[in-house]
Amino acid sequence: MNDVARRFVIVGGGTAGWLCALMLQEAIAKQKLNATVTVVESSKIPTIGVGEGTTAVFRQMLKHFGFDEFEFLRETQATVKFGIRHKDWRRLGYHYDGPIDDPHLVVEPAGSVPQSYIDIFSCAAGRRLADTHLFAYLLDQQKAPFARKADGGLVPLGPFHHAYHFDQALAGQYLRRKAKGVDIIDAQISGAKRDALTGNITALIGDVGNIEGDFFIDCTGFRRALISGVMGGEWVSYGSVLPLNRAMPFWLDIKEGEELSPFTMAWAQSCGWLWMIPTQARIGCGYVYSDAFTTPDQAKDEIETVLGRKIEPRNDIKIDAGRQREAWIGNCLSVGLASSFLEPLEATSIHGTIVQMLVFTSYHLKALDGHGAYNDFAARQVDDFRDFINLHYVSERRDTPFWTAVAEDYISPATKARLEMWKAKMPGYEDFMPLPGGFAHTEQQLHYPVLDGLGLLNSDVARKFLDGHSDLKNKGRAAADSLTHEYQAAAPRAMGHREFLQSL
Ligand SMILES: Cc1cc2nc3c(=O)[nH]c(=O)nc-3n(C[C@H](O)[C@H](O)[C@H](O)COP(=O)(O)OP(=O)(O)OC[C@H]3O[C@@H](n4cnc5c(N)ncnc54)[C@H](O)[C@@H]3O)c2cc1C
Repeated sequence: MNDVARRFVIVGGGTAGWLCALMLQEAIAKQKLNATVTVVESSKIPTIGVGEGTTAVFRQMLKHFGFDEFEFLRETQATVKFGIRHKDWRRLGYHYDGPIDDPHLVVEPAGSVPQSYIDIFSCAAGRRLADTHLFAYLLDQQKAPFARKADGGLVPLGPFHHAYHFDQALAGQYLRRKAKGVDIIDAQISGAKRDALTGNITALIGDVGNIEGDFFIDCTGFRRALISGVMGGEWVSYGSVLPLNRAMPFWLDIKEGEELSPFTMAWAQSCGWLWMIPTQARIGCGYVYSDAFTTPDQAKDEIETVLGRKIEPRNDIKIDAGRQREAWIGNCLSVGLASSFLEPLEATSIHGTIVQMLVFTSYHLKALDGHGAYNDFAARQVDDFRDFINLHYVSERRDTPFWTAVAEDYISPATKARLEMWKAKMPGYEDFMPLPGGFAHTEQQLHYPVLDGLGLLNSDVARKFLDGHSDLKNKGRAAADSLTHEYQAAAPRAMGHREFLQSL
């Protein structure tokens, strides 16, 4: 047991705050540290109230903690997410799906280096890449990830982790209930006392008095009360490559008997895009748009016309995509919206929070040092997400001033350089730098469906690659054929999505 007692104080009781509390507590116990965790949250300041789509990492985390998935689905009114349907992004009237399962995980590896050889084969053969993904079929047929056995029990259709859509407030409450042994203080923080020599925070100044601690985690969302407000952290804006700066969330009722889509709908509009995320109780929606091209009133009118019904916006949030230049300053770490924000096109935010806490607790918790390495990792993680999101905007659309401006001014040099590179070679693992510890990241497996959907893969290049690798060509054909047949047969056996959720 390490004898130095440490008091960790997390400020903020949103999804980020409670994820941090759970993950810190577990790491403290595992590493046998002498430390306490306190969460300071303010009942006077609401949580963000949106943020309803996850990646598969969230399910892995639930499993890791031993939480019952079905209990989680029930208590947070969650639905299953197999991926994202991108509608009208490449051109009007065309959609593509981004299923999040990776078929390469269930076939023989390519050899000494990981290769997306099934994707390369499909591209060379002029097939839809999604056809070798189990989740593409489940998504399209609005299915659950389980089938009912003869004895009434449930059997998973495949080994892949799906993701969720949930009510953010209910998910926060769920995580809060699970974080047993954490001290909770209801207080509003207005500043902090700092050590004159080191600049480190010694105590928070709250409306219930001072709260002392040794290490502070800023999870105060867009308020960034500690990392910016106290430590003077600098915001690096991504506005030059991601032009959307407002989000107008609203809810739609689910109609009687309506099936719940097990995918996030990301539907491109005249000045941005609309998200549609079903929970069991409602469809959470929002128009993310650029106010340089439309006004809030026009944005609302546009969505009402598109949906053919009136909407009641719950908010009109100003957003500034970007990140802290240094996510960790002195004894203050920022996580969640306090640390970075990107439009929710690939649900990177909650995912980023989990991975950041995994890296922090794995490599930095014991000695509480290594700021430089941590900050480099956190910056790169979010910069890579930015580049991935930027890629989605490489579109044939020029039908509105927004889409023309996007094509002319907002496709980043990084995106252009990659696309240039992929004109001559297929995307491969060597084009992406892994994160420390090999934690889940946006690498080639996530890029392939998007590149395919946008028409940015070159089948001549794929054929040339396979001509030089006849072993992979044969493996690719065999794997693509067998997975396609297997999944075509398996998907109809799955329960309906709503039927599954209602049975829990
Ligand atoms: C429009 C939009 C859509 C999004 N969609 C997605 C999505 O689909 N998927 C995804 O992964 N993420 C999404 N996100 C991001 C996601 O919402 C957040 O990552 C997640 O909810 C975590 O938020 P948070 O805990 O950092 O902040 P918040 O939810 O804002 O919580 C902040 C907490 O800090 C407390 N607080 C603030 N100031 C003080 C103070 N001075 N003193 C004491 N307490 C204080 C508040 O009381 C609150 O408890 C979206 C975000 C936006 C804006």
